[in-house]
Amino acid sequence: MENARPVWTEVDLSALKRNYERIKTYTKSEIMPIVKADAYGHGAIPVVKVLFEAGARRFGVALLEEALEIKRSFPSAKVMTIGYMSTDFARTIVEEDIISGVYQYAQAESLSRAATDLGKNATIHFKIDTGMGRIGFRKETYEEILQIAKLPNLYIEGIYTHFANSDQLDLSFAREQLKTFLNVCERLQAQGIDIPIRHAANSAAILQFPEAHLDLVRPGIILYGLPPSSQVGGNEGFEPVMTWKAKIAHIKEIQAGETVSYGRTFRAAYPTRVATLPVGYADGLNRALSNRGEMLVKGRRAAIIGRICMDQTMLDITRIHGVDVGTPVTLLGSDGYERIDATEMAKWLETINYEVLCDISKRVPRVYIEK
Ligand SMILES: *Cc1c(COP(=O)(O)O)cnc(C)c1O
Repeated sequence: MENARPVWTEVDLSALKRNYERIKTYTKSEIMPIVKADAYGHGAIPVVKVLFEAGARRFGVALLEEALEIKRSFPSAKVMTIGYMSTDFARTIVEEDIISGVYQYAQAESLSRAATDLGKNATIHFKIDTGMGRIGFRKETYEEILQIAKLPNLYIEGIYTHFANSDQLDLSFAREQLKTFLNVCERLQAQGIDIPIRHAANSAAILQFPEAHLDLVRPGIILYGLPPSSQVGGNEGFEPVMTWKAKIAHIKEIQAGETVSYGRTFRAAYPTRVATLPVGYADGLNRALSNRGEMLVKGRRAAIIGRICMDQTMLDITRIHGVDVGTPVTLLGSDGYERIDATEMAKWLETINYEVLCDISKRVPRVYIEK
């Protein structure tokens, strides 16, 4: 049974396409859309389909599983894993022509061996740590890069780094990172290692750090229409792609003094009209929004009252008229003049909009629309 419960997200594929086209007004570099984590919760396959039709030919993911899923539907797309790589799956990676971000000698060696076995080349990009402190070769491991360059059946197509705080107005550290990165590229070039594709820019750097665009850019969050931080990209004309909705399951009146939900954390101060929604923390509606978040009902804000349950959440709709069982409620999106986006929800949760999007669980159907 599909969508028997009235809780769903709408993913506006035309907004996605407009965001992609908008990125082109910032850069002439190749665009590699980042579609990890199921395209930030939007659904990797439909997202890749639209972007492929719009001209994108290369996609970035975190996991091998994500890469394989995309390759299965789009065999001619280039797919690159930008994060973790396991040497155990080198053969699959080469067989399926997945491009690997490489940050350890052993990874390159395993790919080289598998490629030699299969009579193919494995395509790799070197990941350089210039200050993120995560994965990547550093000064101390620079020699490994030179060793890798000598291995057979490897095509060293790219080299990349990642910024730690390109979403701040103060770009001084990002500038240092870029300088370190370009130094590494130059040193390799001086050793006769010519790498055609250098890349560094995430969404924030695309918006405010053009020197970092280099040969290719890696947009994630702006593709989905949200700003990378409060300091950057607040009003750049990108449109949120996903909205989240549910319909009211039940309405009741409670008296002053009565309580709502587990732990009795909400006590009515006045006779209160309570709407129950069939959505809860199992859907990715964070329980920390209990007695804290809001939703839109008939174009007005309604407070979440009491604790959010696994599958149900209550709203105070006392002051909102014309609400019935079945009235649609907006968890994320606009209704009339009001809007709640993932950035606002993230603020209530003291987290970032990225996490809000990724948290919307697989249990919530994605409905694809084109406006
Ligand atoms: C996730 C990720 C990106 C995209 O970041 P946004 O801030 O969403 O644009 C780019 N590069 C790497 C290496 C990433 O892990």
